[in-house]
Amino acid sequence: MKTADPELMRAINRYLVIDVIRRHGPIARVEIVERTELSRATISAITGGLIDEGLIHVRHFDAAEGGNDAASRGRPRVMLELNGVAYRVVGVKLSLHRISIAVTDFRGDVLRDLVIPVRIARQTPEVVADLVEDGVRQGVADAGLTMADISGVGIGLPGVIDGVAGVSHESPVLGLSPVPFADFMRQRLGVPVLLENDANLVALAEHWFGHARDRDSFVVVTVEDTIGMGLFIDGKLYRGAHGVGAELGHVKMRLDGPLCRCGQPGCLDTLASDAGVIEAARNAGYLATDDRRQSSELIASLLSRARSGEAGPAALFRTAGEALGLAIANVLNMLNPPLIIISGEGLRAGTLLTEPLLAVLDRLSLPALRAATEVIFHPWGDESWARGAATIVLRRIYETPLNASPT
Ligand SMILES: [Zn+2]
Repeated sequence: MKTADPELMRAINRYLVIDVIRRHGPIARVEIVERTELSRATISAITGGLIDEGLIHVRHFDAAEGGNDAASRGRPRVMLELNGVAYRVVGVKLSLHRISIAVTDFRGDVLRDLVIPVRIARQTPEVVADLVEDGVRQGVADAGLTMADISGVGIGLPGVIDGVAGVSHESPVLGLSPVPFADFMRQRLGVPVLLENDANLVALAEHWFGHARDRDSFVVVTVEDTIGMGLFIDGKLYRGAHGVGAELGHVKMRLDGPLCRCGQPGCLDTLASDAGVIEAARNAGYLATDDRRQSSELIASLLSRARSGEAGPAALFRTAGEALGLAIANVLNMLNPPLIIISGEGLRAGTLLTEPLLAVLDRLSLPALRAATEVIFHPWGDESWARGAATIVLRRIYETPLNASPT
């Protein structure tokens, strides 16, 4: 890598070292050398700098405690680990009916989390920002901290989100017009704020502490109020031309069909998202058109009817599962990722959804490609989403060159 910018190389190496310490700490320097394949001198320089910055600290283990290799027994070992209190951050997940918040330390361990059940879908973006501000301040206070202790806030939400500019272009939560929501929150909270599409957030979090810890390429599909996709390629999140990324929910399944939120026909969202299932249930007469319960309650009632043997409601989830299977088969045939993680609240339908999904996926993906792709289902709780939102800030701090503050 002769041509690489030396400052960039230093920043990348620093990130690698912090990440190895986070994943494997407490860890000896010699093991960091092995895992990063960087030189001893480089590791010494980077870890020395990180100790000076207060990001990692040294722990001395007795022979009895640490060290499971025979060579180290009998003498104390010097191990390095992240200094949890070096930074504290907040993660927020916005969905139609609640705000989930997690306050974490520098290791990503949750200090405090809370869920605020509030219908935010019909509020203006300013009101949503006020609600998020109140929730963040509450979570920070509950964790025994003040906003001055907080280095940044990460916010995940569904929709077409420009994670680079911090703008929501189109979201079921913030509406169809562009909203500079990261700016809204920065003005209210006085700390750096990062905005991210929620499927990207799950992809980052799976890579950080989930099923994709040791994977450089994988796909996450989230089944929620809308269908989302996070695409991780060669160690990086793919963001497309405008910082947005992949919009699986608007992949076209047919030339006509019901109109999607986006104004176009035939989108996967109209077939497989919660909103799509509810619309289909109304059209088929399984739900009254004037039933104003929250979408999660409507889905729950359809699910209980399907589970008690009603064929009509069960067919709705089968149709949704088959549509997902078809869309994911296309993703698999196009990209052949080594791992596909399917996540989100939609998995509460269980085998009503996953069995038809897998059946179609197996039938429509090329056998050689299918055999090379692992597919797993990973339902997430609210606190995992919020913790994932916190990790987008932590990642940014890890990536920031020495002594610069995160932005
Ligand atoms: Zn659409």
